[in-house]
Amino acid sequence: MRNPRKVAVVAHRRKTLGGGLDELRRLITDEGVDELVWHEVPKSRKAPKQVRKALAAEPDLLLVWGGDGMVQRCLDTVARSKGGAKVPVGIIPAGTANLLATNLGVPHDLGEAVRIAFHGRRHQLDLGVLNGEHFAVMAGIGFDGAMIQDADGKLKDRLGKLSYVYTGLRHLNGEAPKATIKVDGTPWFADDASCVLVGNVSTVTGGIKAFDDAKPDDGWLDVGVATARGVTQWARTMGRMAVGRSEDSPFVHMTRARRIDVKLKKPLMYELDGGAREAVKKIRVEIAPAAVKVCVPEPPIG
Ligand SMILES: [Mg+2]
Repeated sequence: MRNPRKVAVVAHRRKTLGGGLDELRRLITDEGVDELVWHEVPKSRKAPKQVRKALAAEPDLLLVWGGDGMVQRCLDTVARSKGGAKVPVGIIPAGTANLLATNLGVPHDLGEAVRIAFHGRRHQLDLGVLNGEHFAVMAGIGFDGAMIQDADGKLKDRLGKLSYVYTGLRHLNGEAPKATIKVDGTPWFADDASCVLVGNVSTVTGGIKAFDDAKPDDGWLDVGVATARGVTQWARTMGRMAVGRSEDSPFVHMTRARRIDVKLKKPLMYELDGGAREAVKKIRVEIAPAAVKVCVPEPPIG
């Protein structure tokens, strides 16, 4: 593979990794690039504009420095841009929430992440699209607010790392809403749902494989609906997720789909890759197959 000549960086300047952005710059120049396009942002919401500028320079490689929220904003912009799907994106997992990088095998190590970006394999990745916005890890809606509050105290002690599944979804709602869910146009679920998760990768939070068979390159989204209520049922569900398969839990329904339509009785906030979005009553999630190209280590993922 030809070494990238023109490299663009879009960096969340508040996220840290290794020797920081100075070291990133040094590692890039060590690769002998001809041109370096550099954009920094103070928050991930500012990233799309800089990504558009970076893509306008037609780089051979785009490096994104930040956590899952930053990567989500950048990949969304890349996927929307004409020709964006052709530009390889190297994820430099700065900060603390790096589920996409983890799922792709990109370690929390600056030198190694840069090496993978320059010399790793280019791999086409599916993205999910929720009401028009792309995500790479997962989208989620729901949860019982009282239960989550409990997760900060007693429940957290009881469940240990499993409680991250709750706290991973920080934006909570009062009660389990009535949800009607269609999968690829066919009615699939109509009941009280305490959460609906749509996964693009298998490990969506805290090291737990919520979607046992999810692969980000198979053209399918994995869908899970939890009906568990209260601490006891949730503890059983989470215990099952940690040691077995999510779908073995009596409180979890799972399937895969290319399109999911969720209708809720009342508006709820939802999350994309850990970032909160406005409350809505209708959600449509679709697969965008091979929407972006990312840099991954050898051997292949999956
Ligand atoms: Mg998939």
